[in-house]
Amino acid sequence: ALPPRLFFEAVEQAQVAISITDLEAKILYANPAFEQVTGYQMDHIIGKKESALSDHKTPSLVYKTLWGRLQQHKPWTGMLVNRRENGERYLAEVIIAPVLNKQGATAYYLGMHRDMTDVY
Ligand code: FAD
Repeated sequence: ALPPRLFFEAVEQAQVAISITDLEAKILYANPAFEQVTGYQMDHIIGKKESALSDHKTPSLVYKTLWGRLQQHKPWTGMLVNRRENGERYLAEVIIAPVLNKQGATAYYLGMHRDMTDVY
């Protein structure tokens, strides 16, 4: 079996912003790329909700669809307008997926996103 350390190092060094949240979207873990993309220091973002990243310009239907997918235990992928800690807006390509426990219930959510502002 692969050592857990290997998974941790892979996530820590990934060039995509990765976060793990509880069921209320409260951030439990964020990797260094998450700090870089969002501009939040680790100790400023842990314990905050993912909605702290929202620019509140994204139509609420998008969030309803997102949560609808998660409630069906399915991943959601799409674009969100996010805001860095300094207020700067960026266009995020986001993947959010439930992490299920052995009983098949959602235990955590996994979020991955990239800054696509320069691509579009
Ligand atoms: P909310 O109060 O979140 O409500 C919006 C809609 O979502 C409502 O219809 C509400 O019923 C539903 N909803 C909210 N929370 C829950 C819940 N716990 N269970 C079921 N339904 C719920 N948002 C971003 O803008 N940018 C991101 O980068 C981003 N990344 C995320 C990463 C992860 C891992 C997760 C789980 C969520 C992420 N979100 C992100 C979504 C975020 O949690 C908010 O739902 C969103 O930002 C809208 O916030 P709000 O305060 O405007 O509305």
